[in-house]
Amino acid sequence: MTRTLFAGGTVFDGTGSPPAQADVVVEDGRIVDVGAGLDGDRVVDCTGTTVLPGLFDCHVHVTVSEIGLLQRVQKPFSYQFYEAARNLWTTLKLGITTVRDAAGADLGIKQAVADGLIPGPRLEIAIGLISPTGGHGDGWMPSGHCVPMSLPHPGRPDATADGPDEMRRVARTLLRAGADVLKVCTTGGVLSPRDDPRHSQFTLEELDVLVTEATMQGRAVMAHAQGAEGIKNAVRAGIRSIEHGIYLDDEAIELMLARGTWLVPTLVAPVNVLRAAAAGASLPVAVVEKAKEVVEVHAESVQRAVAAGVRVAMGTDSGVGPHGTNLEELELMRSCGMSPADVLVAATSSAARLLGMDAELGRLAPGYRADVVVISGDAYDFPSLAANVREVWQDGVRAV
Ligand SMILES: [Zn+2]
Repeated sequence: MTRTLFAGGTVFDGTGSPPAQADVVVEDGRIVDVGAGLDGDRVVDCTGTTVLPGLFDCHVHVTVSEIGLLQRVQKPFSYQFYEAARNLWTTLKLGITTVRDAAGADLGIKQAVADGLIPGPRLEIAIGLISPTGGHGDGWMPSGHCVPMSLPHPGRPDATADGPDEMRRVARTLLRAGADVLKVCTTGGVLSPRDDPRHSQFTLEELDVLVTEATMQGRAVMAHAQGAEGIKNAVRAGIRSIEHGIYLDDEAIELMLARGTWLVPTLVAPVNVLRAAAAGASLPVAVVEKAKEVVEVHAESVQRAVAAGVRVAMGTDSGVGPHGTNLEELELMRSCGMSPADVLVAATSSAARLLGMDAELGRLAPGYRADVVVISGDAYDFPSLAANVREVWQDGVRAV
């Protein structure tokens, strides 16, 4: 059996311990040793580099490649799957070896990656966005045309639900289709032209049914949640992660601390909506206005959550912005008061915990799967990180 030795690098092991000089040995897809003076048959010279665990992005949409309405409606239906293959490869090249797709990707995409048919980060998938009529996932336009971000198809069933009984049916339908996690909107959002991010969506009764159904099948629920009341409803229902968390008030933060709820900030998302608008994407006026309104208050909310000690995992909402810019999120997280080590923990061991993969991924330690990223120079230099990715390994095999 080949012993691959990552020799002479500075190792950031994912736990938040300070980076330290060490070798890493990999055998049969697993890390078998981390320490000084190790040997191997095949040597990867890591002198002058930082060696990291494979990174995570806990909120992407790999089937979404642009948000402009006119652009989206003119694409052939199946084109999104080829774009997804490109987006996955683009993401993997950043050193991101695991992603959670927060609606769009179906079981076929996940399986194609797992089988090695297309290169990409391993996927945890939500498949659909569970939304009420008129909610964040409802693509209805005032013209009467319906333009959802992800059109339903056999592998991606419609996820509209009104009332506890429909919520139960939709949850079971998505789980049947292979959802690893259920995604629900408990507030309006920025990209949906007919709702307001501050308003709540779904009653506590409906959310309780959703969490019960997910829990019975060993799955967690993630909530698109931006307004304070909808965030609190999500936390009270036992939802595992708050995505975006734009208008967090003190009570919401306290509840999240008490329940151990995760925050996935996606700070780069509204920034990317504004960039897309500036670049000429056809977006409803209301969408651009909402994006402008939320950027600052979002950063303030995340700062307060970070200061209070809320658990944070890295996510970007890529698809809203271009895939491949995911690592911009790291510098934004730092600007909200996180230390560079905490930022990388949020993108490695903490993210693995949120996704329930922490026994196998997110750390460089014996027994862990050998997802290894080699970075030229200093891994805390976030603005240069994407350009500094030198090698990406997945399960002990070089992927990039
Ligand atoms: Zn999203």
